[in-house]
Amino acid sequence: MKNTDVAIVGSGLSSLVSAALLATEGVKVSIFEQNYLPGGCTSSYWRKGYTFDSGATTIVGFDDGMPMKIFSDRTGIDFHLRKLDPPMQVHMPDKKVLTRYNDINSWIKEAETYWGGDAELRKFWKEMHQVSKRVWKVSGQQTQFPPSKAKDLISLVKNFKPGQLKLVPEVFKTVQQEIDNYKLNDLKHFKQFINEQLLISAQNFAEEVNKPFGAAALCYTNYSNYYADGGLMGLIQPIIDYLEEMGVDLMLRNPVENISKENGGYSLKTKKGEFTSKYLISGIPVNNTVQLCDFEIRRSNTSKIMPSEKLYSAFQMGIGFKGRLNSEAIHHQILLDNKIQELDAESFFLSVNHPKDKFRAPEGHSVANISMHIRNPGNTRFEKEDVVERVLKELDQRNLIKRDSVDYLHSSTQFSWEKWTNRAFGFVGGYPQYYSIKPWQMIDARIDGDKAYQCGDSTYPGQGIPGVALSGMIAVEKLKADWL
Ligand SMILES: Cc1cc2nc3c(=O)[nH]c(=O)nc-3n(C[C@H](O)[C@H](O)[C@H](O)COP(=O)(O)OP(=O)(O)OC[C@H]3O[C@@H](n4cnc5c(N)ncnc54)[C@H](O)[C@@H]3O)c2cc1C
Repeated sequence: MKNTDVAIVGSGLSSLVSAALLATEGVKVSIFEQNYLPGGCTSSYWRKGYTFDSGATTIVGFDDGMPMKIFSDRTGIDFHLRKLDPPMQVHMPDKKVLTRYNDINSWIKEAETYWGGDAELRKFWKEMHQVSKRVWKVSGQQTQFPPSKAKDLISLVKNFKPGQLKLVPEVFKTVQQEIDNYKLNDLKHFKQFINEQLLISAQNFAEEVNKPFGAAALCYTNYSNYYADGGLMGLIQPIIDYLEEMGVDLMLRNPVENISKENGGYSLKTKKGEFTSKYLISGIPVNNTVQLCDFEIRRSNTSKIMPSEKLYSAFQMGIGFKGRLNSEAIHHQILLDNKIQELDAESFFLSVNHPKDKFRAPEGHSVANISMHIRNPGNTRFEKEDVVERVLKELDQRNLIKRDSVDYLHSSTQFSWEKWTNRAFGFVGGYPQYYSIKPWQMIDARIDGDKAYQCGDSTYPGQGIPGVALSGMIAVEKLKADWL
């Protein structure tokens, strides 16, 4: 039986961040990953000469005070990234294209070309941007949030800055209330635009998401957006290299099958044998954590586990095609004038490789990742072929990817996600940020009130690269505050 100080389940970004932070402090860490590749939803895979991203394609969080920047500063890991401007384009149902410029004033000007120079529209975006800046500032300052022990409260007080309180009343408003407030409901396709932008970054809609999380989601294009050559593996490879350098044992193809408490620590039954650890960090969704653990998990966490009905998976297509996308942006959201009925979907997301990235496609070719949401993945079944047909038609009609340029295509559903990540129902994209669940009521890092911790996109603050990086940091902060 092998032993380690901290056993980490999964090698998604949240786990990798927590592992690297612990290794920096000289803690002995072992990571158990069931897949043959690390990275989970931020990984890449190869088919017929093309490199596809497993899930995430857009990268944010490297601006000052944001989680990936804090992480990079603490570990000294150097990420090689290309800055994108513009970060994204949105293709409206009437086929007009809106460029989501990085600079907020340029974006507002662009929005005015479509929705008119309404002063209320300008105020809405200014307000959202202001609130999103505050959200990121506060989350970088309060890394023991949400509080579940007196010491977290002490840390909250210690890191308190007067501006932080301004966010409290905002938590009691929804994005929809702000749309009502600024009287923007009747602008053409505005609600669809907002809802579909919220869906990709908060996993929710204007009526259901609170204003702070909604603002951060709506304005993610107004923070520096990056691209990693080689795909998302290019983002996580520097972390993997760092872990190797620091002597962290990353075991691929080694699923954890059961975890029990033993001698004041934990015993992990894995495919490749038994391991013991003093501490545990679970970087898999809480739905999966409870299945693995033989010991009691805090009721304050188990009572918040979401069923399939409240979650999403992703339908995805990987396309290899001749030529390049005729656009200045590599990320595109396509809003549909009539839904894809099978998935009740009003949009899909398209990302292609950066024109200067020579690693992901053969010379003269490009690679595209397409994704859209699958509601209630545990109970939804549909004909993939019909969805594929519809997407290809939209891409062709909008002159994005011509049908006759496609030379490789595959598609996948929640079942592939279940296999790739082992996540319950193949749900991905994290727990939606529901207005009814206030940030301080979200799932906390402390699993059992003892030496086990949880990170990842089912815990505070939720999904996305900066979100899960922050959750990994919080798990480490709490573990250190409790024991080290
Ligand atoms: C289609 C899609 C598009 C997205 N787009 C973006 C985007 O553009 N930008 C963005 O910021 N975010 C995006 N996201 C969200 C983001 O990718 C995720 O929220 C985040 O990467 C999740 O990280 P995680 O560490 O919580 O979990 P995961 O990435 O799910 O990692 C969990 C890991 O644990 C492993 N595992 C599971 N069970 C076991 C076990 N029993 N034993 C050992 N290992 C186990 C899994 O194999 C996996 O590697 C997207 C997600 C998807 C699915």
